[in-house]
Amino acid sequence: MTRTLISRPAVRVAGVPDSRCDRCGAAAKLVAQFPSGGMLAFCGHHANRFADRIAETAEVVVVEPHFAWRGVEDPAA
Ligand SMILES: [Zn+2]
Repeated sequence: MTRTLISRPAVRVAGVPDSRCDRCGAAAKLVAQFPSGGMLAFCGHHANRFADRIAETAEVVVVEPHFAWRGVEDPAA
C-alpha cells in the first residue's frame, strides 16, 4: 500500500527495496528516483542531510515506513 503525501516530488511511504546507501553503504531508508531515470538510495542520515536537494530534484521518493524524513512535513500522517 502506498500513499502520495505531497506533489513535488511524489513521496510514497512503502517498503524500500533492499538497497544500500550510495554514500556510506548503510541500509537504505529512502530511495529517490530522478527525472533522468537515475535512482539513488540513502540511509537515514544521508536522506536527511540531502533532504533539500532530494526534494528539489527527485521525481519520486520512496520512504521507509516509520522513517521521519526531513523532506516531508509529517511523514507519519
Ligand atoms: Zn548513508
